[in-house]
Amino acid sequence: MPNSTSTLSSIYRIRVAVPVPVYDCFDYMLSAEQYQQAEVGARVAVSFGRQNLVGIIVEKLSNDTPIDPRFKLKAISELLDEQAILDAKILSLLTWSAQYYQFPIGEVFQSALPAFLRQGKPYNLLARIWKVLDLNAEAKVTRSEKQQNAYKILKLHPSGTTENILNLAGIETATLKALEKKIIIECVLENQDFRPQSVTLAQMPLTPNQDQKKAIQHILKAQNKYQAFLLDGLTGSGKTEVYLQVMQEVLKQGKQVLVLVPEIGLTPQTISRFQSRFHGHIVLLHSGLNDSKRLQAWQSAQTGKASIILGTRSAIYTPLPNLGLIILDEEHDLSFKQQEGFRYHARDVAMYRAHLHSCPIILGSATPSIESYALVSSGKMTNLELNQRAGVALMPKIHLIDLKIAQKQNGMSQTLIDEIQKRLDKKEQVLVFLNRRGYAPVLICESCAWQAKCPHCDANFTVHRQPYQHLHCHHCGSIHRMPEHCPQCKHTELKSIGMGTAKVEEHLQQLFPKFDVIRVDRDSTSRIGSWQKIYDKIQKSEPIILLGTQMLAKGHHFPYVTLVAILDIDSGLLSVDFRATERTAQLIIQVAGRAGRGEHKGEVYLQTLRPDHPLLNTLIHKDYRHFAHQTLKERQAALLPPFRYAVLIRCESKSQEQNQEFLQQHAQVLKHGSENLIDIWGPIPAPMERKAGRYQAHMVLLSVDRARLHFYIRAWWQNMLHQKPSTMKLTLDIDPQELS
Ligand code: ADP
Ligand code: ZN
Ligand code: ZN
Repeated sequence: MPNSTSTLSSIYRIRVAVPVPVYDCFDYMLSAEQYQQAEVGARVAVSFGRQNLVGIIVEKLSNDTPIDPRFKLKAISELLDEQAILDAKILSLLTWSAQYYQFPIGEVFQSALPAFLRQGKPYNLLARIWKVLDLNAEAKVTRSEKQQNAYKILKLHPSGTTENILNLAGIETATLKALEKKIIIECVLENQDFRPQSVTLAQMPLTPNQDQKKAIQHILKAQNKYQAFLLDGLTGSGKTEVYLQVMQEVLKQGKQVLVLVPEIGLTPQTISRFQSRFHGHIVLLHSGLNDSKRLQAWQSAQTGKASIILGTRSAIYTPLPNLGLIILDEEHDLSFKQQEGFRYHARDVAMYRAHLHSCPIILGSATPSIESYALVSSGKMTNLELNQRAGVALMPKIHLIDLKIAQKQNGMSQTLIDEIQKRLDKKEQVLVFLNRRGYAPVLICESCAWQAKCPHCDANFTVHRQPYQHLHCHHCGSIHRMPEHCPQCKHTELKSIGMGTAKVEEHLQQLFPKFDVIRVDRDSTSRIGSWQKIYDKIQKSEPIILLGTQMLAKGHHFPYVTLVAILDIDSGLLSVDFRATERTAQLIIQVAGRAGRGEHKGEVYLQTLRPDHPLLNTLIHKDYRHFAHQTLKERQAALLPPFRYAVLIRCESKSQEQNQEFLQQHAQVLKHGSENLIDIWGPIPAPMERKAGRYQAHMVLLSVDRARLHFYIRAWWQNMLHQKPSTMKLTLDIDPQELS
């Protein structure tokens, strides 16, 4: 407590994480009374420059903490919470994340809060009930339409309405407060029930097979301590059943389970399996929720009321007082890495979090990442394999079609066309996969070879025919009219070459006129309205052709699909990114996993110009694990991640020379200051050098010593930020997943 003889005795201070792009926290003054009330982890309103912001208290300073002479000490505006809303564990997870990813701490803290709390709305917002006090107050209500409208609606609900619902109906809180001042309406706070709800089994678990049993027992031995498991099993080998049975035991102890999945909107069946197995409070946290639903779900998790929390990437930062198990399904999926702003990887954060909570973590996948296999081989993760397909289904057989020698019609080999016909005749379903949407990737003049290029990027325009003919740049989003003739030679024969899903749809429809072709990509799902509609159609046993992009590759169950055709995998194999083959292999196995999940055995056909590609052959003639093992050895030989730690600096400005010069100069500085521990690649122009009219450059830093790498770049990076021209954009990507 403050020393009354000191001159500082009357200055009470707290340290606050303020959401601004600055790397430090800031100190604020407050009264003795406020100081007493303030809790670490609670929100506080502060002014910062000319802005009013909502920060989080990270420390209550004692009197002997020196006052930072660089800043004029300001007073807080208001304490927003009576109690901490972020507990000690989540605070340390956030602090660690900000340090590890070298991102402004206040902005990192923001990612842990739902929008309403970020905006400074009261914690018990959902329980603020507005009621009419005076039923004959028409005369007192001003002529403002807003007030009249609010009063009218409130009179219709004499027992009161929550502020949240009123806001959704377009009635602003300010209007309500104006009426409250005139004593026409009142606000009452209702207690919300956040007591933990018990969980019971709603459905009998399946009898586990040998592999499943072993996995379950192994994981349960690690209850109440940290251990990381890799659950490595093909699609349909029963991973979800393992999750459910491990969860059952953890839930029995009154603990919470956090389940992270790549995209909730695309995996309705996974969710319904959790929901039908357990009775209890299950919450979903994903980007599709509106702000009040999100607050409600977050509070259920944060108070311990909810026992199962299912969410996407950002759910890793939800406060959970009784966390007992983390599950990350499809752990190889790229969507766990945030690719802009605060570039964290939910898989790595989850591992750290399990550590903090001393609980087990399960990473599951049919195609585990090379990073996870590396952790297994270094003994940091326990590998559990599921080698049988759990039900009756068998693993599909994969065939390669050499496009160089095949007879083709419209980019499809005759073999493939015949195979598709056979399945449809047997009333089975076919899935055709092409990871390129639109009609055609190139528009070319037949006379002078002019190509339609985006004026802002180093990229061709993609031709789209729906909802009308146009050119679309998939990199910057710009849209142009379809030219009527060649701008160079005035020739009128412009040809679309290459295939996008929309063109393949046309071809398939011509080849198989009696059958339905259903296209699933970002263009078609936004047009038709919902994926659910398409989904219902797939679940009926009618012979149809499903045609789609990446969206179709993830976690779905298509029981009637017996043939999967992958039209083009070569673009994946040709990429400059050293992870390209890993991603292509994962995609092939994931797409292949859609076939033969029912009673019929599935088959997969891959079209390629490179049937002799060595890794591709390991994948097809052996399996994914052999492929991964070989890839791991190659990475080790080349000292690529995960055998060295990487940091990617992206630099963007109006001139490539400026980028190069700036990065070059700072590369020298780093080289001199880091005892040769850091290997520097570049700077080089990015794979797509010009995007949206700006030039991009990359520089990659690699080191075997992660701690030293991070240590050396810390001050260096700060310095770069200070010295960069204001028109230049710099980003730092720790453990980058994509080099583009
Ligand atoms: P994954 O998550 O690895 O894709 P699932 O757990 O979804 O595998 O299992 C695939 C299918 O097999 C599901 O329909 C599931 O109900 C069934 N299944 C899983 N485990 C068993 C088991 N032990 N006995 C019978 N059927 C099982
Ligand atoms: Zn021309
Ligand atoms: Zn563009």
